[in-house]
Amino acid sequence: MLIAGNWKMFKGPAEATAFCRELRARELGNAGVVVCPPCVSLASAVEALADTEIAVAAQNVAWEAEGAFTGEVSASMLLEVGVYGAIVGHSERRQYFGETDETAARRATAALGAGLAVIACVGETEAEREAGETEPVLRRQVAVFEAHPDLVVAYEPVWAIGTGRTATPEIAQDAHAVIKSVLDVPVLYGGSVKPENAAEILSQPDVDGALVGGASLDVDSFAAICLAASRS
Ligand code: PEP
Repeated sequence: MLIAGNWKMFKGPAEATAFCRELRARELGNAGVVVCPPCVSLASAVEALADTEIAVAAQNVAWEAEGAFTGEVSASMLLEVGVYGAIVGHSERRQYFGETDETAARRATAALGAGLAVIACVGETEAEREAGETEPVLRRQVAVFEAHPDLVVAYEPVWAIGTGRTATPEIAQDAHAVIKSVLDVPVLYGGSVKPENAAEILSQPDVDGALVGGASLDVDSFAAICLAASRS
């Protein structure tokens, strides 16, 4: 089981340090735990979590090693500050910043090649689900990634992200099974995971953990989800 907290554009360095100091003092059980702060807070999180099992990952990573790519951060730069992995292809990157299946795949390949772990996000929109296109959309999105020991996929139905509408355990299980039929890697569920619904979702056979947004910003709720994962 892996629980990753995607902080999105919250918590600058000072807040990240305070959160991580609090988190390291908590009982988190035996699931793998990762926090994904914004770029400027990565080094603070790494420092505050030194000598713990809690890993730090970035929310994005460039596909090039260096060069004239304003606003991008490369895998080697992330490794230099002690970061362990990166999210790629999050739906907010796809929706607001022009990320595509192809650019997400390029980022994943570069990151994995450089030695970072990758959490690759996929998921259908509400319109795609209503049109009965969930399975082909997931197959298309997942097919661009190549299996790798350090790759996990996060199934994040876009209609469930930040909306409070969690997928039912059955919807999550069906989608995870589709994803695993294309790519044999662990699959996390993401979309309004909270302490109250974590155990039920995480108990599904093909759910290998969770990517948590809003509920990862609060130490109490994030720790509760980590504990639910370690009981699943
Ligand atoms: C996310 O941002 O990856 C996410 C799942 O957000 P939330 O948990 O807030 O729906």
